[in-house]
Amino acid sequence: MNLSSCDLNAVPTATDLDPPWLRPRSAYVHIPFCAHKCGYCDFASLAGADHLSERYLDALEREMRMTLVEPRPVDTIFIGGGTPTRLDAPALGRLATMVRHWLPMNPGGEWTIEANPGTLDAEKADVMAEAGVNRVSLGAQSFQPRLLAALERNHAPEEVGKAVEIVRSRFPRWSLDLIFGVPGSTLDDWRADLEATLDLAPSHLSCYGLVYEKGTNLWKQREKGDVQEVCEETERLMYEHVMDRLEASGLMLYEISNYARPGHESRHNLVYWANDAYYGLGLGAAQYLDGLRTVNTREMSAYLKRIEAGESAIGPNERLEPEERAHETAMLMLRRTVVGLDRDDFRTRTGFDLDALIGPAITRFVGEGLLEDNGRRIRLTREGRFLADRVLCEVV
Ligand code: SF4
Repeated sequence: MNLSSCDLNAVPTATDLDPPWLRPRSAYVHIPFCAHKCGYCDFASLAGADHLSERYLDALEREMRMTLVEPRPVDTIFIGGGTPTRLDAPALGRLATMVRHWLPMNPGGEWTIEANPGTLDAEKADVMAEAGVNRVSLGAQSFQPRLLAALERNHAPEEVGKAVEIVRSRFPRWSLDLIFGVPGSTLDDWRADLEATLDLAPSHLSCYGLVYEKGTNLWKQREKGDVQEVCEETERLMYEHVMDRLEASGLMLYEISNYARPGHESRHNLVYWANDAYYGLGLGAAQYLDGLRTVNTREMSAYLKRIEAGESAIGPNERLEPEERAHETAMLMLRRTVVGLDRDDFRTRTGFDLDALIGPAITRFVGEGLLEDNGRRIRLTREGRFLADRVLCEVV
């Protein structure tokens, strides 16, 4: 597959000797440090643990040596968190050096780093740009103080604009993350957030509906009745508005929650949605190699001790049977709202005939107006996007 192609109508073909669903050409690297724990956050992230950053980078380097054995050229790298830009500039430089050694980028590759407003400055951005990072994903979430407070974010709205100015002049591609359905928010709030976002002229946006993950502060507040979820109808209107408003601005919905100008899609995330293999390194990192899905421990002390003892940090793992993997592939590919699920590509990648596998479900959802089928590829309809959870759940 030629990952450098961002023509979303061109379905990747499986003609390479080393197809990417068998040999990883992408890597995720996790940096767990954060200034503060946000109320909705269920990621492997830690506040108040900055004193461990040097030891963590030592362990990460050792894990790279143990897992990769030798430098592995890749097409995409995603350094996520946590907040990678919580590291200071020298530590970011060290991280970049080890990533460049163990995961050298193929020509034309995409190297993304996540950053949070308030943790990014010109010095850190220079270090990353000089190392070869060419894409930044900024966590904005909202531009309204009371909604940022409800999410327990600790940046001010004006810091988003400052971060964008730092990023815009140094990186060819960048993205903003937004959250809708924040408790206490209205459709007008969401409209205002989108307008503030569009004023910054991003070429990529990720817009997720808020999820109350079990155990998070926000989940506990909802359980106690201290906050109320935005009603389903309002959330539907919010999703409808974001699709229409962004499309009118030239940002195309290419995955259920992701919008981009043509050529600015996240190539790294396209790897996940094609169910291709990828390396995962660091605390809580997920990896998909040779059909085996693994997740590293989310406990920092266990991660450090195990890696320092020369042991694997892998926790839960699951080897999917070919048929399970095929179902999962269909489910992930259906998330792609433009490319969708291509019958020939699916057969090449999984060895299964799509119609023999999930034909009755396709027929039913086409009948209900949730899927469209042109004989070659199947995609969610506009109505199907609202009910994507139901459709994808049934497919998998
Ligand atoms: S900044 Fe991101 S990773 Fe860190 S606590 Fe907040 S949501 Fe979680």
